[in-house]
Amino acid sequence: MIGLTPDREDAGAYGYSQFPWYVLRENYATSIVNAGGLPVTLPLDPTLVPDILDRIDGLVLTGGAFDIDPTLFGDTVCHERVTVKPFRTDFEIFITKEALEIDLPIFGICGGGQLLNVALGGTLIQHIPDEIPDSLAHEQPNPRNEPGHEIDIVARSKLYDIVGTNKMVVNSAHHQAIKEPAPDLVVNARAPDGVIEGVEDKERRFCIGVQWHPEFEITEGDSSILKAFIKAATEGAS
Ligand code: MN
Repeated sequence: MIGLTPDREDAGAYGYSQFPWYVLRENYATSIVNAGGLPVTLPLDPTLVPDILDRIDGLVLTGGAFDIDPTLFGDTVCHERVTVKPFRTDFEIFITKEALEIDLPIFGICGGGQLLNVALGGTLIQHIPDEIPDSLAHEQPNPRNEPGHEIDIVARSKLYDIVGTNKMVVNSAHHQAIKEPAPDLVVNARAPDGVIEGVEDKERRFCIGVQWHPEFEITEGDSSILKAFIKAATEGAS
């Protein structure tokens, strides 16, 4: 059983409901099913975290069209492109720290990978084009079910062990990226422009954050990562 953090929209947003609502892109769930897991959407209620962690075997931190409050990683200035969702981020930071305490398998996707890094004490680039000269189009103009750029995978990393290749093509839908990896995390993948595309902690059962969206399963490597995550979760299931 894999818990996935949903996004949250305010009452009236997009005309869906006059009350606040949770939202999860379907392929976050179907890709977990394809890998052999049972996905469940989590309520963003911190008081439920102990009960949630008693029941789930793995945690997926999903992405979203918003950013982590820069004060959470020590920045005093907030870039004009930054939009925050404190209600969601506060829950995700809390459940991530608690899940790390019990070494629950954690997979952070896009903004979720950034969140994993911040929860462990790392920092973020607030807007890639302002900090990386000649950066690639990490907000790719083409559809998300197509590749946006290549990545180089670090030899002897856990990610390398999983995908079995030192190069992959990935989709790319982010304007932020990891700046300084958290003390427990090491870089396992970079884009050709140097942008960090993945981090991991090999000491934990499964603790990986990636900057792209493997739930689209545009390559075999994407599916292999999800399967490795479910394998780790299954091995720890009670
Ligand atoms: Mn990218």
